[in-house]
Parts: sequence; structure tokens; C-alpha cells
Amino acid sequence: MESLKNFVAGQWVAGQGAGTTLHDPVTGEALVTVSSAGLDLGAAFAFARQQGGAALRALSYGERAALLSRIGEVLVANRDAYDEIATRNSGTVKSDSAVDIDGAIYTLGQYARWGAKLGEARLLLDGEPVALAKDNAFASQHVMTPTRGVALFINAFNFPAWGLWEKAAPALLSGVPVIVKPATATAWLTQRMVADVVAAGILPLGALSVVCGSSAGLLDQLQGEDVLSFTGSAETAAVIRSHPAVVRHSVRVNIEADSLNSALLLPVAEGSEALSLFAREVAREMTVKSGQKCTAIRRAFVPRALYTAAAELIAAQLRKTVVGNPRDATVRMGALVSQEQKRHVEEGLVTLLSEATVLHDGRATPLVGAGPESACVAPVLLGCEQPVTATRVHDTEVFGPVATLMPYDDLAQAQALVRRGAGSLACSLYGDDPAALAACATELADLHGRVHIVTPAVARLHTGHGNVMPQSLHGGPGRAGGGEELGGLRALNFYHRRSALQAAPEVLAALGPATRL
Ligand code: NAP
Repeated sequence: MESLKNFVAGQWVAGQGAGTTLHDPVTGEALVTVSSAGLDLGAAFAFARQQGGAALRALSYGERAALLSRIGEVLVANRDAYDEIATRNSGTVKSDSAVDIDGAIYTLGQYARWGAKLGEARLLLDGEPVALAKDNAFASQHVMTPTRGVALFINAFNFPAWGLWEKAAPALLSGVPVIVKPATATAWLTQRMVADVVAAGILPLGALSVVCGSSAGLLDQLQGEDVLSFTGSAETAAVIRSHPAVVRHSVRVNIEADSLNSALLLPVAEGSEALSLFAREVAREMTVKSGQKCTAIRRAFVPRALYTAAAELIAAQLRKTVVGNPRDATVRMGALVSQEQKRHVEEGLVTLLSEATVLHDGRATPLVGAGPESACVAPVLLGCEQPVTATRVHDTEVFGPVATLMPYDDLAQAQALVRRGAGSLACSLYGDDPAALAACATELADLHGRVHIVTPAVARLHTGHGNVMPQSLHGGPGRAGGGEELGGLRALNFYHRRSALQAAPEVLAALGPATRL
């Protein structure tokens, strides 16, 4: 069996020992092994900072944007291989693999385009100069310069492709070298993409490194100029935030954690198109990537009078979802990523069932092309008729094809229930009254990174509750981790330091090629 190598300090290096085996979650087949044991991480970080960082910073923003374009071309050229790895290692159907792979390519392309517009600039200006003396003889200009450390990415298992490039695109565009540690269960796709980009010779050595396997020792390497971007569970996030190196060196940290995202149907007439749009989106969010999306709808709220109708409409959609082996052309939803995740989902269901009942259970239908020993789990829609007194439905993230439908008595109560998520990545609103939707969005925005509003007018246009678009902010306060990613060129903030330059106008005028963000 192949043992995937790590790419550090400009070289491919095998980890020591037997390592960890990655499996096909449908067939159980052992695929490859990974190990990061014995790597010289000190040398890897020093090489990335010194060689990779210096080489990237020698380029303009426009030149670095051109590198992103070329990376995108390499990924497109190798796309079939990524699809195969995703089927085997993540157990996803083609359309779900595409969310990850094509999402990565699209995001890279967007940053290449936005970066090209920064042209030959080597410095970013933040705002206009502000006078500090009479006649503007002495002024303050805020500037943004890339940090001279490393961007360390510790990623989650559910987006091995997009999770790398949605972070690496703004980091590399900023001129900051990247070290990525993918989640072990699905490290293969990340490692293969890095291998293809390295083989194409696009980036300077040290600009992109990959460590597969255990994270042991990685955080110990962090210094004050490094940044750390983590995606994963709230429990691991807490360990990361309090790591001694992070605390000692004030390392800038971005956390994308789990989230009890909501969908809220505003009061509408029975038979309203908004109700159908709501039901379709809830069912879609439950089943895309088998519900293994950090942005997926976990809690769905409807006016009490529409509870039964909504449950029936969602169940009707779910009944169309054929679950099983992604290699079977009739299958619409593949497996969870591992047996461990299947166990977590089953445990989570037991927790939620202490407060909820089953409205639809796809597990009664046999899987197609896969047995009960696979990591396939069919969608389960739960219902909780007294959400005000319930607690677990508002605080338990079941990372799979599971959502809970809940009725509300008035809109103020609905908004209070949404807020019980204590900070989420995304909330979607459905209705047909623009003023009511706008007011509700404003009411909920502070606790959500993104509020996605669906009216009949955008039925076929909207980008989907759970799809993360690079144009929009991704991240959320509180439980969601408090992070911010993407949002166009706003993403560059994380990789730059803001400083105030106080000087005479002629000094500020001599700053060289610069552009305002
Ligand atoms: P996880 O268990 O927290 O693992 C995330 C990453 O952290 C993995 O690479 C893991 O490595 C690593 N890790 C584990 N323990 C560590 C430690 N002590 N120090 C440093 N790194 C450590 O999360 P997961 O199960 O992969 O992902 C599922 C969770 O991620 C869900 O809760 C989901 O909501 C969340 N998520 C959030 C977003 C978002 O954008 N907000 C996106 C995707 C997923 P190993 O794999 O080697 O253990």
C-alpha cells in the first residue's frame, strides 16, 4: 500500500513508522497510509518562512495572482484523478465531490481575478492619509504589509480540496507561505493536489508544504509572525486557542468551528411558493455531502400552522434520495466519511431523540450497492414541537443527514429560537414580504456570518443556503468560532499587518507601487 509523503522544506519526505491507514467508507478497502512522525518540523517552518515567504514577497500582487491562475489550470487538468480519490476516500457521489473540487477551483479563479486587479502593487493602503498637523504637513497613512511568518492550516475532513484552496488563495495572494495539515481521514486528496502543484513547478519552494498524519508538534513551531487557521470541531478549537505557543507569541488565530445553522420560514399563506422553496432547501442541505457541511441546516423553523405541511413536503423530497454506493448511477447520496463519523451521527441522533420525534426515517429503505456495515446513513428528519423548552436541539450538532423541524408561535419567538444557536455560520430566511425579510435579516445578522434570503423571485437564481461563495464572508461569531474567511479581498486582512505610517507628504508619496483595498 502506498504511503503518502509529506512535502516540507522543499522536499518529499516519508514519515516514520506504519502510520495511519485511510479507508474507503463504503467498501472498507484500505487505501493509503499517512505519517508525519519524525519530520523535522523546525526546519520545515524555517524554510517556509525564509525561502517561501521571501520569494513570494518579491512578487507583486498581480504576479502572485497569476500563480493562482496557473494553480487553477493544474487542478482542472487533473480533475478526474481528484474525482476518483473523492469517491474512494470520501464516499461521495460526483455532484458532492464537485462541491469540494469545483468549489476549490472556482475560489482560486476568483482570487486570481481579484488579485490581478491589484496589478503591480507591492503595498496595500488602508484609507486616505489623515492630517496630524496644520496644512497637512505631517500625516498618518495606514498601510497593510504581509506578515513574514507562515500560515499554518489545520483542516477538517469534509472539504479536503476546498478547505485547502479557500485559505491558500488569499494567503498566497498576500505573499504568505502555507503549511497545510489536512484531517487524517481524507488527507489523500489534499496531498495529491499539493503534489500536482509542486510537480508543475508553479510556486517557489517553501511557498506550499503539506504534512499528513498527526498534528503532534506542529503548533509548538508557531512564532509571533505566523498565523494559524483552524477548521474543525469546537473541542479541538478550544485546545488550539489555549496552546502555549499560541498564547505565548500572540499568534493570530482564525477559528471555523461547528454551528447549529437555521432555516426560518416567515409567516406565509399555506400553498405559498416560499414554503416549497424552504422545504426543498432543507432537504437539499440534509443530503448534499450527506449533511457533512459546516453550513448545513440543522434547525428548521416554521409557523405552527404550517408544521405538518412543511414536514410532509420535506419528507417527500427526502424520499427521492437514493442512498448507497456512489459508484451506482442511481445513487444520489453516498456515505459518511468514516465509521467513526457514522458512530457520532448515531450517538447524536440518540441525544436529539430525547427531545424530538422522527418525522421521516430514510433508514427504513435498503441502501443501494452498499451494506449496513458501510458508513452510509440515510437522512432522518426529526420534529420538536416544544422548541422553547428544549435545549439539546439547539446545542447538538449532528454532522450528518439530520435536521430538526420546529414550529414557532410568533416571529419574535422564532428569532429568539434562531439565536439559541449561540452564533452560526449561516441562517436562511424564506418568505414573500421584502420588508419583513429585510427586518428579520437585520435582527439576526449580528449572530451570523451570512444571512441568505430566499424569495420566489430568486427561486432559480440563489446560490443555496450552505454554499460558501468567495464573494461573501464565511465564518460566524460565538459557537461558530468567531472567525472570518473569504468575503472577496477582505480575506487578505488576516495575512497582513496594519500599521500607521506618520510622515511628511513627500515621504508618503514615495511609498512605491501601492493600491487601496
Ligand atoms: P476535528 O476532529 O476537530 O479535527 C479538525 C482538524 O484538527 C484535523 O486536521 C485534526 O487532525 C486536527 N486536530 C485534532 N486534534 C488536534 C490537536 N489536539 N491539535 C491540533 N490539531 C488537532 O474536526 P473534524 O471532525 O475533522 O471536522 C468536523 C467538524 O468541523 C464539524 O464539527 C464541523 O462543523 C466543523 N467544520 C467547520 C467548518 C467551518 O468552516 N466553520 C468547515 C468544516 C467543518 P486529525 O484528523 O489528524 O485528527
